Amino acid sequence: MSWEGYNYEDVRRAAEETTSHLTPVSLHFLENCVSCALCEVNCPYTPVGEEYGPVSKAEPLRNIYRGKVNILPRLFPWLFGAKLPKTKEELDKWVDLAYHCTNCGLCYITCPFGIHSGEMIKTLRGFLAKTGRIPSLLKLMVDAETSGMFAENPGFRGLWEDVIRKTLEVANVEFDRKGAKYLYMPSLAEAMITPGAIPATARILSKLGLNWTMPRNPLSIRAPIGSLAGDDESVRVVAKRIYDYIKSIGAEYVVFSDGGYPYTFFRFDLPRIVGEEPSFKVVHVVELLVDALREGKVKFKQTQERITWHSPCKMGRFGGLIEEPVEVLSSISQNFVKLKSHGLFSKCCGGGGSIACIVPPTQEFMEKVMGIPLKVSENEKAFLDKLYRDMLIAGREKVQEIKESGASTVVTACIGCIHTLGFTTRAYDVKVTLKTLAEVVAEALD
Ligand code: SF4
Ligand code: SF4
Repeated sequence: MSWEGYNYEDVRRAAEETTSHLTPVSLHFLENCVSCALCEVNCPYTPVGEEYGPVSKAEPLRNIYRGKVNILPRLFPWLFGAKLPKTKEELDKWVDLAYHCTNCGLCYITCPFGIHSGEMIKTLRGFLAKTGRIPSLLKLMVDAETSGMFAENPGFRGLWEDVIRKTLEVANVEFDRKGAKYLYMPSLAEAMITPGAIPATARILSKLGLNWTMPRNPLSIRAPIGSLAGDDESVRVVAKRIYDYIKSIGAEYVVFSDGGYPYTFFRFDLPRIVGEEPSFKVVHVVELLVDALREGKVKFKQTQERITWHSPCKMGRFGGLIEEPVEVLSSISQNFVKLKSHGLFSKCCGGGGSIACIVPPTQEFMEKVMGIPLKVSENEKAFLDKLYRDMLIAGREKVQEIKESGASTVVTACIGCIHTLGFTTRAYDVKVTLKTLAEVVAEALD
């Protein structure tokens, strides 16, 4: 089934499969909302339009759930909003809602009942994927990653080889070394969006004197890309491939420089997917740096530059690494300044959850890198054009905070955030330099 198609039988089957995997936690999310709208205040997509508030976006999943699970709505569906999309237009509207969520978790921590609308919207994406509704670029990447074809693409290969060459210029690394205590896991997506972060992290690990290694070849495009589209089977295949590799190295620590969803995926989701408790610990490089700083094992050159930190939702809000980056960056710049919404309530950049990865400028960039022209229908193009405009609205508040901070450099550690902030700071004409934490630290190493 294509983006354009519609088949009620597929929709019905997708609903059946989606409701058969609900957990007690998702049942809590589905059943206990009192419609107080407190969560709407923080959602980056509320300013785009009323229908993009967290509860409205999660409503289609509730429609599926009510119709499949509860008895009264099954008998009187029209009274309870228990319905499946009956037309292509209705299904497209659900896609539009599901792809206006970054899964940033701000609704979750704002809700007095602990309801995570973002998780429901993610489940809704899974339902949509089962009906064939995945944006074309995302689908292309999911398929390339699942099949392993991405590793052979000349464009991807060239970017990766360039990063490997630069890494070898700054660190004497023996790739794929079994028995290394620390395994650094950079991704192909970092080689594309933040290529400087990989040699920078290699330099940091070497400078800290750690027994470390990294893969000679990329194992995935990022973490399983399928998790952004709700493609469970692809996630299972890619996660298993990476997990087997990590086990073959036997590392005690798996280190990430990307603090976006790969960090939380490997830390929290992987054990459930592979069905066993990993023997390694997942850490972000900032955790190693904080330990080294406190033990006096590392010193930085000081700068007066006014720098600030944008906390990636996954690393900060979900991973709890909120003050660690501040500690590291404050020890580099005496003019470090926090953004207004620092901490648990840090505003989302607006482009997470694959949004910045599928908007038209990214599509053009990816077509050039991969050398594959991507044809999208008029219908999908209209959806993507609107999504791009809406993403810029969703990111406006973050850009305003950056402007008010007076910082000349914005540091973050998620490639999605860097990519999105590139779009939004340009759109609002806020002139700042965007850098990864690893690059800032590597430049400041004595
Ligand atoms: S997870 Fe973030 S973007 Fe998604 S509904 Fe909640 S607040 Fe909005
Ligand atoms: S804050 Fe919680 S209870 Fe209130 S509308 Fe949002 S999800 Fe529902």
